[in-house]
Amino acid sequence: MPVLEINAISKSYGKIRALENVSFNIPKGSVFGLLGPNGSGKTTLLSIVLDVLQANSGGYKWFGESPTYLHRKKIGSLLETPNLYHYLTAVQNLRITQTISGRGNEGDIHAVLEKVNLHERKNSRFSTYSLGMKQRLAIAAALLGDPAVLVLDEPTNGLDPVGIAEIRGLIKELATKGHTVIMASHLLDEVEKVCDHVAILKRGQLIACGAVEEVLSAEDCLLLSAADQLLLTEKMGRYPGLVRMNATAEGLECYFAKGASSAEKVNQYCFEQGMVLSQIWAKKKRLEEKFFELTSK
Ligand code: ADP
Ligand code: MG
Repeated sequence: MPVLEINAISKSYGKIRALENVSFNIPKGSVFGLLGPNGSGKTTLLSIVLDVLQANSGGYKWFGESPTYLHRKKIGSLLETPNLYHYLTAVQNLRITQTISGRGNEGDIHAVLEKVNLHERKNSRFSTYSLGMKQRLAIAAALLGDPAVLVLDEPTNGLDPVGIAEIRGLIKELATKGHTVIMASHLLDEVEKVCDHVAILKRGQLIACGAVEEVLSAEDCLLLSAADQLLLTEKMGRYPGLVRMNATAEGLECYFAKGASSAEKVNQYCFEQGMVLSQIWAKKKRLEEKFFELTSK
């Protein structure tokens, strides 16, 4: 059963259509990336499933059921930068968050500080923390009450490279401790590094969704070269299972339906056609290329 089912959600702000008929599921235990350029509807979608904003149509289910107050307690979120007081320590800040949210107990404060690796600095003032530590404390606040799911909107925004590395490491660690993490990001590099599943949004529409590995390699690509590049193009044009070709300075990129071909088969085919390949290279398509391809159509 998915942790979250999103079913045909649409949302407009006046004339702006922020989300159009978006549906996908988020599997339990995943680190799920909601990827899209700025303005693609990520925050809007997260706000809707967190019940901060109302959709115009469509719905969602948490843990297979219509959302209730009880479900809400199983979800920790970081939509906006929370109010953390500069002159208070980590423990004092978390006590305040706890009182306001009613999540967890005193023992929980220590548990979440351990989880985000801030326990040793628990009695230091917030103002003495690095950017990464501040964000880790914000995540600790979202972890109060030990929620099954953690929803993070652009969790590394505004951090320096060290802070970014800290937060990415922490997210992966939280997943190993059993939390499902749902995070929005406009950085495909981040999603590729941190997430195992991804949904790509473009101008409010879902354009791809699935395991990062699948979305990343929906097609196989071989890069081929031969002395007579024109003849190669002609011969490969008749190759069964070829989806499309693209002539580049590096050689001829040939795209095949997933699993429809292999370097060996293509090599054999070319040989039978009387051609000797000077290069054959299986190209792994990076999510980046896929992302630009998908979002530039
Ligand atoms: P993202 O988080 O992917 O950057 P958003 O969900 O914030 O995208 O925004 C999606 C679209 O909705 C954008 O065109 C944005 O300008 C618009 N939008 C977001 N919030 C509001 C609002 N409160 N009022 C009007 N338009 C909004
Ligand atoms: Mg946003």
